[in-house]
This record gives sequence, structure tokens and C-alpha cells, in this order.
Amino acid sequence: MTEVVAWDDDGTPRSPRFDDIYRSATGGLAQARHVFLQGCGVPAAWAGRAQWRVLETGFGLGLNFLATWLAWMQDPQRPRVLHFASIEAFPVAADDLLRSARNEAGLLPLAEELAARWQGLTPGFHRFSFAEGRVLLTLCVGDVAPMLREQSFRADAVFLDGFDPERNPQMWSLDTLKAVTRLCHRGTALGTWSVAGHLRRDLQSCGWKVDRRAGLPPKRDCLSARYDPDWEVKGLQAQQDTDPDECIVIGGGLSGAAVAASLARRGWTVRVFDTAAGPATGASDLPAGLLAPHQSPDDNLLSRLSRAGVRITLQEAQERLADGLEWRRTGVLEWRGDDRRPLPALGEALEPWSREASEAQKRAAGMDPAQPAWWHDNAGWIEPAALVRSWLRAPGVRFCGGRKVARIVRHGEGWRLENAAGETMAQAALVVVAAAHESAALLDNRLQLNPVRGQVTWGPHGDDAALLPPFPVNGNGHFLPRVPLLERDAWITGSTYGRGDADESLRREDDAANLQRVRRVLPRAAQAVEGALQRRETRSWSGVRCASTDRRPLAGELEPGLWVSTAMGSRGLTFAALCAELVAARLHGEPLPLEARLAQALDVRRQDRARSG
Ligand code: SAM
Repeated sequence: MTEVVAWDDDGTPRSPRFDDIYRSATGGLAQARHVFLQGCGVPAAWAGRAQWRVLETGFGLGLNFLATWLAWMQDPQRPRVLHFASIEAFPVAADDLLRSARNEAGLLPLAEELAARWQGLTPGFHRFSFAEGRVLLTLCVGDVAPMLREQSFRADAVFLDGFDPERNPQMWSLDTLKAVTRLCHRGTALGTWSVAGHLRRDLQSCGWKVDRRAGLPPKRDCLSARYDPDWEVKGLQAQQDTDPDECIVIGGGLSGAAVAASLARRGWTVRVFDTAAGPATGASDLPAGLLAPHQSPDDNLLSRLSRAGVRITLQEAQERLADGLEWRRTGVLEWRGDDRRPLPALGEALEPWSREASEAQKRAAGMDPAQPAWWHDNAGWIEPAALVRSWLRAPGVRFCGGRKVARIVRHGEGWRLENAAGETMAQAALVVVAAAHESAALLDNRLQLNPVRGQVTWGPHGDDAALLPPFPVNGNGHFLPRVPLLERDAWITGSTYGRGDADESLRREDDAANLQRVRRVLPRAAQAVEGALQRRETRSWSGVRCASTDRRPLAGELEPGLWVSTAMGSRGLTFAALCAELVAARLHGEPLPLEARLAQALDVRRQDRARSG
């Protein structure tokens, strides 16, 4: 998918498009409200509910989404969390989102928030979070059939949209309706503007009770429907929402804090237990880390997972951290070594994630302009501990330091935590283990975890700071040129990668190895690093990260009420928030923040499967 297209009358794709969609988007906010919101009984239907999940076909200009978000904001009885999962083959430009919202009172500020994040829309799922994580849009870029297959939740409301069925038959086909119906529970409501005879018949054949009702002029009528088949279907009852209650997260680093915040947002009261007195004492204690998407010429699994993670972390940082002090979205230059293969064509028609770096960027960094390099826009640096502290400050979360859990024992329907003396420390129906290496022992060694030692070297800016690049550089370790540490700006470089090494002590040779790497990529900056090392102005930090055998995080349910989010390796900033949202989504049966297939690749039980297979 390389081009933005719409459909001609004969069904052939062509370039669009604002007018096409605007015309068929049933005419703005009033129509969106009438056909889709009222058609699905909103706001009465969602009043007092913990969550409300909308599934939409055809995101278009986002009017239905914005109208739903606005209705949510204006309703004191709103559900705690609003999920909106919408499928769109060809996302419009950010300007078009604004253009259509401009005419509608109240929508523009919301459209502006959305437009500000409207980047890197590669095929696949993209999670956008608004209203402090309580309005979650999952934009699924791709054709309706495969994107419906990647969903795994039950919708409370379906907004069936698309161009005219005559010229856009796939959106209204029986196959599409069957796939949509698979994602519904008894009682799911549906709204659509089309009253085509075949649509009504097909909906009925899928088990929908269809009601033709008056439209809003100039439309004569529209449809609403309720899923209530006359026959028994297994697993069809309205899913019982998991009622938020009290839970315990073990581990107060990036993984645990992120899980705590994700659960608290959904109404849980969360206690975070950690052996240490304060939060973020393990590998999350790194003075500052680099956040950049992993891109690969073949767009491999890690690349796709990493983009999903980076998008979520950037939103969290933007909402929670102090720009320039605790994080900054600087963009990142990636040195590619000898690898001259191009970036993969990811089909992003607009604002791509990454591009070939320009000569000017390479020169500015002090890199040889003849060497291949990529530039990532959605990237920067973050102080991990600041993010941890911010997540732990979320309403509903309480950090409990100095609590060393020795065992997790089944107790009735829930779990009991014991200390080394066998005394009960706490009980809860839900326990999430996010304790890095300790996780293995706590879970009867069901997880296979490997230590990965890493040391970074950092130094304050001296008189030679002009030698440093103006932005972070990745590849062969990374170099952060300007991070406020102590009372001065500092550079940080590293990290070493000691697989299987669990020793935390600082090593001089690791600083030398870090310098060596900088020399290779950024010879000019290396002079500043070398000078600081000689003047003994540098400091070092080391930590032991925890990785799984395939080096992807482990997130999900191990046994009823016992969940895991750990093994972030050296990618805690990339994966902690994504895994936390994945855990919360699975726990509540919500739309997943990434395609079901990709979510499987993070599932904790893949280790069990690998062993038994
Ligand atoms: N709901 C939108 C809104 O609120 O602005 C309007 C949707 S517009 C009428 C229909 C959308 O469906 C278009 O943006 C079009 O690109 C999309 N679409 C059409 N066929 C599709 C397909 N086969 N798969 C995915 N999206 C499709």
C-alpha cells in the first residue's frame, strides 16, 4: 500500500479524497450523533459502565470517533474507559482531520490532539491515548477483512461505515458482516446510514434484529440493530467485565510501574511491592536512555513491535514528563555501519517513521557523510526513573518499598504473598510479577530469564562541548549528547552488552569499550569523551537487565489471577508501557494495542509452548 486512494464508481482505486469522504461521511457531527451514537443508544447505553468498546469500519475523517469522544467528555455518566477500534485502508492527511472538524463546534480541539499524533501510519494497529489514557483509539490500518481478523475483543457498539455499498461493496459484504459479528456479544448495538436491502437481510441472517428508523434530513432513514440471535452461540453472553479491585504488582521498575498505572487507570487499587526502599532501583535507574524505533530492511517482528512500543512511550512521556529536563523528543540519527540496505517501504503515505539521513545531518553529528545512516523523527531520550515515578504517582497506585516477596502461593481464588519467614505479606485476587530476574524464582522457575549486564559512561559538558552532535546517535551503542544531569548538561554513552553476565560492579574496561565505539561512529565527539576520561571527569553506571531466551518481553497471564510483565532486556523504555497496556487489555478483554498476531509474540506462555513443543 503506497498510495492514498479512494474508489471510483467502477470500484477501481484512484486518488482522493477529502471531498469523497466528507460527502459520504453522512454530513458531519449531527449525522454522526444521530446515525451512530443515538443509533447505538449512546449515551444511555454506556451510563455507569466500566468500559465501552466501539468497533468501526472506515475511520475516514474521524468524525465518528471525535463525536464519540466529545459525547464521552460531556457525559457525567461516562464509562471509565472508552475504546474506539477503527479500521481504515487509507488514512487521510492530518490536515484533512482538521479541515472536517473545523466546521463542528467542540470537535476542533480534539481533532488537533489527534492530528498532532497522526504520524507513521504503517499497515497495522496504532494506539492513540487521550484524556489521560481513558479514551483509547486503536487505528487499524489495512483492508477491512485482515484487520477484523487481528481483533480479539467483544464490541459493545458497531459503527458500520464505508462508501456507498454500490461502489464499495467489500465494506458491506456478508463476509465483513460475519467477521464483525464474531466480535460482538448478545446485546451489542449497531448503527449505520445504509438501509440497502441486502445489508438488512445479511445482518438478519447473522443474528441481528434490525430496525429502520428515521434519518436526519437530508437522509430519509438509517438503520440500527441489536445482536440477539434466535439460536445459541457458544461464548456469546455479554462478557462479564473483570471488576477492578485490589491488586499487587511485584517490582517497582519500568515494567511494574507501567502495569500499575495501566491498571489504576481502569479503576484498580494497586500496591507496588519492591525489595528496595525506593522505586526504580534496578536497570530502570539508568540516568537517561534512548528511545528510538528499531527499524530493519525486512521490517522484522522486532521492528513492528518496537514501533508500537515507541508510539505508546512517546505519548506517555509527552503527557507526564518535563520537556528538556526528564525527556526530549529530539529525533535520533542511526549509524548503519556497513549496512547499505535501504529502509523498508512501509506504505506510510504520510509522515513516515524514518528516512535516509541527509548529508547535513551526518555532518552536524560529526559522522562520515559517506556512511549510511537513517533518521528517526519519533525518537529521543528519557530519564527512566522519572517515568517510573510519574506512573507510581497515578491515582490508585501506592508504592510499598522494603517488601521482599519470597513466594506467591495460591489462596482460594486468589494469591497470597509470603516473605522468607513464610509469613503472609498480602493477599489479592490479581498479582502481576514484574520483578526482572527475581520473577523466575517467584514463579517456580517457569520463566527462563537471562542476565544482560550493561555499563554506560557519562561526563559533564566541558569547554569542548561543541564537538558533540546536536542530537542523539544510535547504532553501535548510543550517544546522548545533552541530558541535564546533576547541575550541568552531560553526555552519556554506552551501553556495553554483557550477555549472561550478572555482575553489577563498574569496570574500567567497559568505559574503554564505550569510548572505542564512539570513536568508530563519531570521531569528533570521541575527542570530548577521551578528554573527559583523561581528566577523570566521567562517571559510570552499570545495571543488569533481564532478557528472555528469544529476547522479547514476556507479558500475559500465567495462571488465573497471576500475570507477568518482564524481560524487557535493554528495551524497557520501548516495551514497558506497551506490555502494561497489553496485560490490561487481555485482563479486561479490551481491544489490543497491537495486532493479535504480534501480541502472541509477547505472550508469556510462548515459553511454555516452546518447551512442550
Ligand atoms: N467514519 C468516517 C468518519 O467518521 O469520518 C467516514 C468513513 S468514509 C464514509 C469510509 C471510509 O472507509 C473511507 O475512509 C475509506 O477509505 C474506508 N474504506 C473503504 N473500503 C475499505 C476497505 N475495504 N477496507 C478498509 N477501509 C475501507
